[in-house]
Amino acid sequence: MLTNDELAKWDRESFFHPSTHLGQFARGEAPQRIVTGGEGSFITDRDGNRLLDGFAGLYCVNVGYGRTEIADAIAKQAHELAYYHAYAGHGSEANITLAKMVMDRAPKGMARVYFGLGGSDANETNIKLVWYYNNILGRPEKKKIISRWRGYHGSGLMTGSLTGLELFHKKFDLPLAQVIHTEAPYYFRRPEDGMSEEDFSTYCAQKLDALIQAEGPETIAAFIGEPVLGTGGIVPPPAGYWTKIQAVLEKYDILLIADEVVTGFGRLGTMFGSDHYGITPDLITSAKGLTSAYAPLSASIVGQKMWDVLTEGTDEYGVLGHGWTYSAHPIGAAAGIANLKLIDDLGLVKNAGETGAYLNRAMQDAVGNHAHVGEVRGEGMLCAVELVADRDERRFFDASEGKGAKVVAAMLKRGVIARAMPQGDILGFAPPLCLSKGEADQIVAATKDAIEEVLG
Ligand code: PLP
Repeated sequence: MLTNDELAKWDRESFFHPSTHLGQFARGEAPQRIVTGGEGSFITDRDGNRLLDGFAGLYCVNVGYGRTEIADAIAKQAHELAYYHAYAGHGSEANITLAKMVMDRAPKGMARVYFGLGGSDANETNIKLVWYYNNILGRPEKKKIISRWRGYHGSGLMTGSLTGLELFHKKFDLPLAQVIHTEAPYYFRRPEDGMSEEDFSTYCAQKLDALIQAEGPETIAAFIGEPVLGTGGIVPPPAGYWTKIQAVLEKYDILLIADEVVTGFGRLGTMFGSDHYGITPDLITSAKGLTSAYAPLSASIVGQKMWDVLTEGTDEYGVLGHGWTYSAHPIGAAAGIANLKLIDDLGLVKNAGETGAYLNRAMQDAVGNHAHVGEVRGEGMLCAVELVADRDERRFFDASEGKGAKVVAAMLKRGVIARAMPQGDILGFAPPLCLSKGEADQIVAATKDAIEEVLG
């Protein structure tokens, strides 16, 4: 049996943590937390803390922690068939059933689902499919991908390039040349005070149009965007945004990838964000909510228009040279089936809409008028509080002051986990979809107290 002290030491000495300040962690200057369990919306750690997880892990534990239904399904699958590959037409009852369940829930016009492991690899798959599609159509020059500044699409070579956050590019020689970025649909950071939301959406669409013209429409293959900007700041789109953007894409025959890794399977109070905002994508990327992170699994959902060309391609060129050993892993699939059933049985999509709206309203009431809160915004079970130095001038704090991180640390002392979003002083909330109103109240109270402690 390990003692806690040994674990802490091994952690500092052996474990390369993702998205971590490596030097500070190794030297013991940055905190560590060793998580031991979870139940509903709470996690526990080895120090005996019970914390309300206002970010559902990384917006992924949508059904909440400790669901024995999913644990049992995983165990049963592991006993029966832990693994067989899905290449060359092989399947298992679990992954075939999950494919049917995903397609039953997908927005109209979708044809097939490809399973991977996480959001990053699903986006890699989707970009490869876009390139393959344009090669089959005989337009090999149509390859560039447009993403948005502040978009988050993963941290691989291509997906890290798609991600529009400086931290993910700096010193990694990214973005790759095929990726270009356009305006973020971030109304709070609009260039002029007088712009309405509709004006700002028109401005974003015009910027996109101008970028396409400058690059040459014949070189642009696809546009990728999250229905609600996530890691870039939890920013719902301004009014009219998706309608105006889709009109531009249509004009130039550019494919649309909806990255629904966060929004897929209920987080906005609708099954998919595409349904929520009237988006008609050619490809959908999904992961997190598909299994509520009980096992790694992602889904690239392919629309009919692309599917027809992909099948034409294999008729002409043979087998599609794309697949991972763990594509459609039966254990992930078993977790996915149990998870989607739970989401239905517990009415979690509806709860995400209702309790999410309650959380957003309560947050607005509690901190919306604070002198250092520029905006409270959200949609469904997503909420953000943007901290500012001066709310009238929309002037931001200097990043070096780390105000967001300080407020998040002050919330932890009050037993609530929020996320300091990576760019800007933004407190992010994405609780499990099973959150109760009482738990929402607890998140709001901790936020209010922590803001007052840190910012007065
Ligand atoms: N796309 C979006 C919208 C995400 O939020 C994330 C992760 O947060 C990803 C893609 C990448 O997913 P993963 O971390 O599973 O690779």
